[in-house]
Amino acid sequence: MTAEGHLIFSVACAIFAKKAEVTLELTTGDWWHIIPAALLTSLLPDIDHPKSVLGQRLRWIAIPIARTFGHRGFTHSLLAITGGIVLFRLEFTRSWPIPPDVMDAMIVGYFSHLLADMLTPAGVPLLWPCRWRFRLPLLNSHKGNKLERSMCLCLVAFALYWQGGCLIPIQSYFWQIKILDFNHVK
Ligand SMILES: [Zn+2]
Repeated sequence: MTAEGHLIFSVACAIFAKKAEVTLELTTGDWWHIIPAALLTSLLPDIDHPKSVLGQRLRWIAIPIARTFGHRGFTHSLLAITGGIVLFRLEFTRSWPIPPDVMDAMIVGYFSHLLADMLTPAGVPLLWPCRWRFRLPLLNSHKGNKLERSMCLCLVAFALYWQGGCLIPIQSYFWQIKILDFNHVK
């Protein structure tokens, strides 16, 4: 996916995450914190490629990462997200004045990148160092960037339109099925 696609996709994910009330910090958070924070980290996983938007600007970081892990390796995994969360909980980073809603939105932005790359044929090794690649190849580079841009913009439009809250009825529906199954077994 292109950098532009990742940026737009991260905005859609941030809107969804806030409206779906994924965390208390996002639910009560400020849109002016959440959207910029998600945009900020949405390109970060591609620091493992010296020709990516970030990699071109930070080659001294990109080249060693690319040589060590290759493109779409460690930085495209859940382990990288976990590592980032642990890093920000350490004693020396705890004093950094990062509001909690910004922190959560940064995680959403980063995760949105992995999710978007999963929509391409190459997929991502979510469980790195395990080599399994997770993919749902809806986007194909042969079909061009127009399809990618349109799909991401449609997602933003849908996220803006979506009223949120539909997850709770779905959850209660599944719980009812579980309870019914349980009673049936008894
Ligand atoms: Zn990527």
